[in-house]
Amino acid sequence: EEAEARRAAEQEGATRDGVRIEVAANVRRLADAESAVRFGAEGVGLLRTEFLFMARREAPSEALQVQMYQAVAEALQGRPVIIRTLDVGGDKPLPFVEMPREANPFLGQRGIRFSLAHPDLFKTQLRAILRAAATHPIHLMFPMVSTVDEVRQARALLDAARREAMEAGHDVGTPQVGIMVETPSAVWLADHLATLVDFFSIGTNDLTQYLFAADRTNPHVAELADPFHPAVLRAITHTARVAGEHGVWVGVCGELAGDPLGAVLLVGLGVRELSMNPPAIPRVKRALGRFTLAEAQHLAQQALTLEDGKAVRAWGAEQMRNS
Ligand code: PEP
Ligand code: MG
Repeated sequence: EEAEARRAAEQEGATRDGVRIEVAANVRRLADAESAVRFGAEGVGLLRTEFLFMARREAPSEALQVQMYQAVAEALQGRPVIIRTLDVGGDKPLPFVEMPREANPFLGQRGIRFSLAHPDLFKTQLRAILRAAATHPIHLMFPMVSTVDEVRQARALLDAARREAMEAGHDVGTPQVGIMVETPSAVWLADHLATLVDFFSIGTNDLTQYLFAADRTNPHVAELADPFHPAVLRAITHTARVAGEHGVWVGVCGELAGDPLGAVLLVGLGVRELSMNPPAIPRVKRALGRFTLAEAQHLAQQALTLEDGKAVRAWGAEQMRNS
């Protein structure tokens, strides 16, 4: 495994005919960022900042956040890092903020909804990201977007955070701004949303949960929540097509991106950045290198016609064996 990781680290993500696919890492803490580089990550596609917050008894200060974000970027040695603003709520409480008791937390005040309801906490994080982006290739994205207005509000707070940081005498960068597409409404608003952002990162974990109305943490319905299902792949197809029409680039940071078959199908659907748990990187790079873009597109088109996720996985496994 060590030798394979070293080989993957030296090799760029690409299809067999040389179409570049950025293979990036999902990261929760500094140690993950260091291991991401060892496994050959070409960037961080998702820094889940909530874990940096959840581990603490008090909200981390702006200065401490700047340090934490810079440290992750330093570990990536010049590779790009996408910082996702807090995605608390749902199954992820914050110890130092009073959270509403909710009957259905996954349908409640999580992600961007929580951040917009706590503008001071949110702007502190935004100032820290802007400051870290002054010296490092850092981009930012908002989680759990379900309406156009949420993105407008978040961007207005980002502008305010920029002004505040500059007034305080800090240098700020100009990060690309993206959103996670992980709710069905975001999929169907992709044309409007694309006018407000630089990129989409599709979160297949939540998108699957919300498309099937099947709690991702509930083992009794785990079988329903299958990201290989054509219902999910069709949502991704729509998102990627609309994004392409608007010149917005598309990545995927859900678990599907870290599966060799999933990665090939996603590339066939138009995705050009895949972010995953670091140990998955070598095998995903290897899988991508076995197919041309046209072959991946052909596979994806076939998968879209099947009836369920089981059929896609069975058929796909055969295609992977024969490739
Ligand atoms: C997702 O929902 O697919 C995702 C990548 O975000 P998280 O798993 O952190 O909710
Ligand atoms: Mg999510």
